[in-house]
Amino acid sequence: MLRVIRVNMADLKATVEEAPAELTRLGGRALVSHVIYSEIPPTSHPLGKKNKLIVAPGLLAGSTAPNSGRLSIGAKSPLTGGTKEANVGGTAAQQLGRLGLKALIVEGKPANSGIYVIKVKKNGVDIIAAPELTGLGTYDTTARLRGAHGDEVSILCIGPAGEMRMTAASIASTDPQGRPSRHAARGGLGAVMGAKGVKAIVIDAAGAKAPEARDKQAFQAVSKAFIQEIMEQKATTLFSQFGTVGGLSYLSKIGALPTRNFSAGSFEGNSKIGGKSVAELNAARGGSFGHVCMPGCVVRCSNIMHDKNGKFLTAGFEYESSAMLGANLGLDDLDTVMGLEKMCDDLGLDTMELGAAIGVAQEAGLYAFGDGARVLDLMLEIAQGTVLGRVLGQGAEVTARVFGISRVPTVKGQAVPAHDPRKEIGTGIGYATNPQGADHTGVIIFEGEDTAEMVAKSRQKQLTTAAYDSVGLCQMTDPSLEVMAKLLNSFCGWNWTAEDVAEMGRATLTKELTFNRNAGLGLATDRLPEFFEEEALSPHGGTFKVPVDKFEEVLKF
Ligand code: SF4
Repeated sequence: MLRVIRVNMADLKATVEEAPAELTRLGGRALVSHVIYSEIPPTSHPLGKKNKLIVAPGLLAGSTAPNSGRLSIGAKSPLTGGTKEANVGGTAAQQLGRLGLKALIVEGKPANSGIYVIKVKKNGVDIIAAPELTGLGTYDTTARLRGAHGDEVSILCIGPAGEMRMTAASIASTDPQGRPSRHAARGGLGAVMGAKGVKAIVIDAAGAKAPEARDKQAFQAVSKAFIQEIMEQKATTLFSQFGTVGGLSYLSKIGALPTRNFSAGSFEGNSKIGGKSVAELNAARGGSFGHVCMPGCVVRCSNIMHDKNGKFLTAGFEYESSAMLGANLGLDDLDTVMGLEKMCDDLGLDTMELGAAIGVAQEAGLYAFGDGARVLDLMLEIAQGTVLGRVLGQGAEVTARVFGISRVPTVKGQAVPAHDPRKEIGTGIGYATNPQGADHTGVIIFEGEDTAEMVAKSRQKQLTTAAYDSVGLCQMTDPSLEVMAKLLNSFCGWNWTAEDVAEMGRATLTKELTFNRNAGLGLATDRLPEFFEEEALSPHGGTFKVPVDKFEEVLKF
C-alpha cells in the first residue's frame, strides 16, 4: 500500500493515509504539480500558512532502474509567485520509495517561532523541536543529525538563508556520503521550508524493504538495455570524466556562456574555471571525478573538490555554479569560485540565483567584475543577514529593484540559468514559456535557429522533461518516452504506451500553467528580458528575435 504523510506544523501533528486513487499514477513532479494545483489557493502568500511544501519521489523510487532516484520538492514559489517543482539528487527519494511513500506534505505554520525536525521512519513520523540547530549551516546541521539519527539516514535541510526566508534559498539533500551537496535549488523553496519552521526532514528507511518489480524479468531486461543506451551516449563519457563543468569551455567557444552579467557570451578566463583546470586541480590535490550523487547512477557526473590543503571542500561543483559564480562575475580564480560555491552550499542558496543577483549588483556599483575579495564580502553580508545581504539573498529581481537597475536576467522573477538565450534560441523559448520560470526544463543546446522548428522542439522537450521529472529519472540520461513506458510497465504492472507517458507530461504542464494563470501570472509574464532582444551578444552578435506571439503556441496542446 502506498501512503501519503501530512504534517501540520500548526498543531505539530502528522497523519499517515493511504494514497488516494487520484495520486496512484502520479509521482515526482506530476504529483507535486497536482497537489499545488488542487490544494493550494493560487493567490495565497507563499510564506503563509496556506502554502504547502510537497516532497515526492518519482514513480520508480526504490527500484534498481538506472538513475531513477530523483526527488521532486515543490510549493507555490516565493520567487516567482507561481508553481514550483525543484528536482534534486541525493539518497532521499530511494529511502522514501523503500518506505512506500508517495509524498510528504507539510502544511500550516507553527504558532511560535520554533524550529523543528520532521523524522519519517518505518513506523510513523516524529516532529522534534530542534532549537540547537538554529542558524547552523547545512554541513553542521547534517553532521549533528547524522550523529543523532545514524549515518544511514537521508536528510533534507535548509541553511541560514532558508531560516531568513531569502527567496534564493534552496533545500539541501545529502549524497551517499551524507554530504548536503545536492540542492533543490530553484524558486526559493528553502524560504517556504523556513517559514514552516522546518529545519530538516530526516528519512530513515531502516527495516523497510525495497519495492519489487511486478515483472522482474522484463524490468531487468529493460533496465539493462537502458544502461547500454546511456553508456553509448557521447555526453556520458564527458560527464564521468570531467563532470558538467567539462562543458564550460565549449559553451564559451560557441558564445553561450553568461559573462559579466550576461554582457558577453565568451569568457577569456574560461580555461581557468573549466573542466581542464578542475581536472588539474583534482590531480594535484586528490579530488576526483566520476562520483554519484545518488545510488544507481551510471552517468556519474558529480565531482569531489579539495582545498589547498588537500582536504574535502565541496562535492558537485557543477557547470552552472562555475559559470554563474565565475564567468558571470568576471572571476577566473578557481579557488575563489569554488569557495563561493561552498558558501552557497552551506548557507543553502541557489548558486544560479546568487550568481545572477551579484552580477546585477555590479551595475549598482557594489564591486568591480573580477574582484573576488569584494564578492566574498558580499557573500558574508548574506551570511550575517545584514540589510544588503538580505537584499542579495532575495535574488536578482529584488536586487535590481532595490538599486534601480533595468537590465535583469530573470523570467517570472527567477534568474536565467547559464545558457544565454541569444545563442540557444530553443532554450530561450523554454525560459520564457515554462511555468517554472527560467529553468532547466527545456534546455536545447546543439540546435538551429529556425523559429517554427525551435517552438516545436521546445514544446517536445518541456513535455519530455515533465515526464522524466515525474518518473524520477535524471535528465542526464535523456530517456525516451518509450523507455519510460517500458520501465513503468514492468515495475508498476501498468500497460502504458509512450503516448500515455507524453500525456502525463502534458497534463503536468497544463496544471502548472493553469495554477500560474490563476495566481495572476498572465501571458505577459511569458517573456524574456528586453535586453536579450536589444543587445547583440559577442562574439557572434546574436540577439533573441522570436516574436512573442509565438510563445502562446508553445504549450498549446
Ligand atoms: S548523472 Fe549526475 S546529476 Fe544525474 S544522478 Fe548521476 S551524479 Fe546525479
